[in-house]
Amino acid sequence: MKREDIRNLKLDSICVQGGYQPEKGEPRIAPIVQSTAYKYDSADTVGNLFDLKESGYFYSRLANPTVGYLEEKVAQLDGGIAAMGTSSGQSATLISILTLCSQGDNIIAMNNLYGGTHTLLGSTIGKLGIKTKFVPLNDVDRIREVVDENTKLIFSETIGNPTVGVLDIEAVADVAHQLGIPLVVDNTLVTPLLCRPLDHGADIVVYSSTKYLDGHATSVGGLIVDGGKFDWTKGKFPCLTEPDPNYHGLSYTETFADLAYITKARAVYMRDFGAIMSPFNGFLTNLGIETLALRMERHSENALKVAEYLEKHDKVQWVKYPKLKTGADYELAEKYLPKGGSGVISFGVKGGVEETKKWIDSLKMISLVVHVADVRSHALHPASMTHRQLSEADLKAGGISPNLVRLSVGIENVEDIIADIEQAFKNI
Ligand SMILES: *Cc1c(COP(=O)(O)O)cnc(C)c1O
Repeated sequence: MKREDIRNLKLDSICVQGGYQPEKGEPRIAPIVQSTAYKYDSADTVGNLFDLKESGYFYSRLANPTVGYLEEKVAQLDGGIAAMGTSSGQSATLISILTLCSQGDNIIAMNNLYGGTHTLLGSTIGKLGIKTKFVPLNDVDRIREVVDENTKLIFSETIGNPTVGVLDIEAVADVAHQLGIPLVVDNTLVTPLLCRPLDHGADIVVYSSTKYLDGHATSVGGLIVDGGKFDWTKGKFPCLTEPDPNYHGLSYTETFADLAYITKARAVYMRDFGAIMSPFNGFLTNLGIETLALRMERHSENALKVAEYLEKHDKVQWVKYPKLKTGADYELAEKYLPKGGSGVISFGVKGGVEETKKWIDSLKMISLVVHVADVRSHALHPASMTHRQLSEADLKAGGISPNLVRLSVGIENVEDIIADIEQAFKNI
């Protein structure tokens, strides 16, 4: 198919047909290009590649064709201008921020983030001199209070992991744009099949492709998708508009226009950190996305049934799932997630930590793994696992109670999932 026609396809078709487009006689399936180097015939061409005057592959620490097929497909799915694959979701988040921030800058983040992101933003980038100001989810008044002239972006998750609060993308994007800064959204638990944050005003999307995009728990990886619409030239981003001495004084916005952000992310931060996705992981993730539409449909359908079942259970204290009619975020979920609420539920086991652990230990089919969002059902106890590095105050602010279970509902038959949950409750 012609590349310009792919974007007219429906999203479930892009999952299958997007990205790699073979020419006559080439492999039908996106091949694994397991090569660090690429051959050229003239020194000038290679010089131009180094100077960003020509585009092309020249060293697999910066870009690789197999990862490139995945990048193109995900950019098409999200409606972005371009994407960059990374070695993990963490490196995607880190590079998405460093591309805009350096020492003395700060960012604003919602406080209900995935534990790894919380420590990266709250602690590690602080050591580089970039401060994170945490605010409650969707609290736009608080954003206006804490913003200052050095604030460079707002960071949030579409659905928080694990407390599943729903981001009011339009409201937060509006405030960000009034303040002259972009909204960066981690869309890992939602995927473009259920919501495309760029359509609602977000500017940059990041993924841990380790989760639903791969879907089979085989490959750690991440992606940054650039919407290509944010105007970087209004004064707050000299890092993109001013000459870069590393590239003979080119200005990213002057030379690359709409592609300024994603070009700098690759040409500077991927070049220097080398956090590239491996070709094999790119291959597997690309293959995983072929079934993403079907999987997200089933995850959402199963999770809603499980959430409704849990809501009625006398050993359950509370349940959070975006599409529960009784839930606080139901209206936001109807607006942003019309096709389904994805597969992640959080709920509280009546009693406390002991009862919660006992329930998890009694599961038979649903496994205890430190993972979320793949075809298999999993349960996890964030307070003693993914979020154990957070202080008690941060846990409380992020809504993570000691009895919270994060249930990642898989694509098995929902009757088997519920039967396993039920037998485990009988043990406590
Ligand atoms: C897992 C996860 C990450 C981190 O991704 P890795 O691939 O494990 O580095 C970031 N954000 C969210 C929402 C996640 O679930």
